[in-house]
Amino acid sequence: MNPGNEGPVAESQGDADARFLRAALREAQAGADKGEVPIGCVLVKEGRVIGRGHNLMETLRDPTAHAEVLAIGAACQSVDNWRLDGCTLYVTLEPCPMCAGAILNSRIARVVFGARDKRLGALGSTYDVLDGNPINRVVEVEGPAMEEECLEMLKGFFRDIRARKKSGPDELSL
Ligand SMILES: [Zn+2]
Repeated sequence: MNPGNEGPVAESQGDADARFLRAALREAQAGADKGEVPIGCVLVKEGRVIGRGHNLMETLRDPTAHAEVLAIGAACQSVDNWRLDGCTLYVTLEPCPMCAGAILNSRIARVVFGARDKRLGALGSTYDVLDGNPINRVVEVEGPAMEEECLEMLKGFFRDIRARKKSGPDELSL
């Protein structure tokens, strides 16, 4: 399935998950470089990345410009279909209710998230949008995975902001 230079043929699911979460972390870093809260996402179909996104709320001045929504949009463009059956979404932070809704609507089969979001996480931390959803769609969820690395990226970002401003906004602290 992966004849390129993407890693050994017999890569385990766990290894593949770690590799794609690292790709999501690189997306998050691309966001941080633009001054965005660093959250990154990649969408994978049959072992291949078909869409990427990072949070762009400030750049686009758009509260819906979350990493997951942008990655889902990019993936749909690349497969020319709004149905992402069989795809896995990797994201550095537990999705919010809006993104969990987008995951349901796009028929994504599996979600792997990095760190829990105790404030807004909608895959179990605050409530669970996917579990027992009204359209009975089964979405496999894994996480937190690589939580320390994913949290550290966010904490580092807010540390930098606080260092610059001497005090950070409360609503942003994790
Ligand atoms: Zn979201």
